[in-house]
Amino acid sequence: MKQHSERMNGLGTTIFAEMSALAQRTGAVNLGQGFPDTDGPASVIEAAVAALRSGRNQYAPGPGVPELREAVAAHQWRFYGLDVDPDAEVVVTTGATEAVAAALLGLVDPGDEVVVLEPYYDSYVAGIRMAGGVRRPVTLRAPDFRLDVSQLRAAVSSRTRAVLLNSPHNPTGTVLDARELRAVADVAIEHDLVVITDEVYEHLTFDGAVHLPIATLPGMAERTLSISSAGKTFAFTGWKVGWATGPAPLVQAVLAAKQFMTFTSGAPLQPAIAGALQLPDEVFTEHTARLQARRDQLCAGLTEAGFGVRVPQGTYFVTTDISPLGYDDGVEFCLALPERAGVVAVPHQVFYDDVEAGRPLVRWAFCKQESVIDEAVTRLRRAFG
Ligand code: PMP
Ligand code: GLN
Repeated sequence: MKQHSERMNGLGTTIFAEMSALAQRTGAVNLGQGFPDTDGPASVIEAAVAALRSGRNQYAPGPGVPELREAVAAHQWRFYGLDVDPDAEVVVTTGATEAVAAALLGLVDPGDEVVVLEPYYDSYVAGIRMAGGVRRPVTLRAPDFRLDVSQLRAAVSSRTRAVLLNSPHNPTGTVLDARELRAVADVAIEHDLVVITDEVYEHLTFDGAVHLPIATLPGMAERTLSISSAGKTFAFTGWKVGWATGPAPLVQAVLAAKQFMTFTSGAPLQPAIAGALQLPDEVFTEHTARLQARRDQLCAGLTEAGFGVRVPQGTYFVTTDISPLGYDDGVEFCLALPERAGVVAVPHQVFYDDVEAGRPLVRWAFCKQESVIDEAVTRLRRAFG
């Protein structure tokens, strides 16, 4: 009997699950998978409890409960000045992961090409494959991980259907600036492409780096599907409440696919996240400030242990070069790391077609408590310092 369909070939198990299992098995400090080890705001948890207790327990409408769609639209207006119709231009999804998958299934035909930043988030590869699309990576190269506009232009062909962006970018921590986004916009307009932009780290930028949604650029609102989720912003990664916003036809395409994958997403968590999105600015900025302190703590520790550190402008992650320590293969390094140092990290290599570009790079998550990062750093300095 055939074990799986052709389209699952080579997809394997996601590196995040693999690395968390390794951490559990070995008792290592887990700086691999990007999830916080503390809960988000207590008031948001209370709102979810209240929703569970007040009968919000049956199917939500396909596009999501009205108050969450309204809150997402209000969020886009409040932070970015984007005018989004909550009835036609918002769809609630089961995390950003489902939004990305549904967007690809709803918009990409077999043989269509999708230009994607590399290192890429692993679900993009799977999503493009499941849609029958062909990925065309554009590499963000060490040490700066900036967008090479000529490489972007070279990746576009007459078969290109979409550009799949991610900024703030996992795993490099790059926040695309106005010049880079303008270049993507120019290419998209010139070739009549859809831009699917994954902005799950939109509120997690540091040192004054500004997240600029590409949908705000002239000529882009009508061709951009913007995706985000509550997981990273509010430290509720297990809730899996996400959304996509954009012009009605693009949102309809997402909904067309989504209705046959999950039909609708978990009802009682939606009103709670509607409330979270309306929390005052300080809640967003204080969360980011706390995260920035953890970033600084981990970056300092990794530097002291001898890694080449690229300080990220955003996200939950810092990328390091392991070659100053005398290693050249991130996969081997990460597989040996629990035994060598009692820590788990994620190799970049698995996020590239151009494996050589990612070989010596390793990603570490700093969305963890101060004491946990302290322990990891102590172990790494002992092993390598
Ligand atoms: N996109 C990126 C870039 C991510 O890092 C993640 C992990 N949170 C996701 C999408 C998935 O988000 P969600 O958990 O909301 O599905
Ligand atoms: N986005 C998180 C990361 O990059 C993990 C999500 C997942 O495990 N799929 O580590």
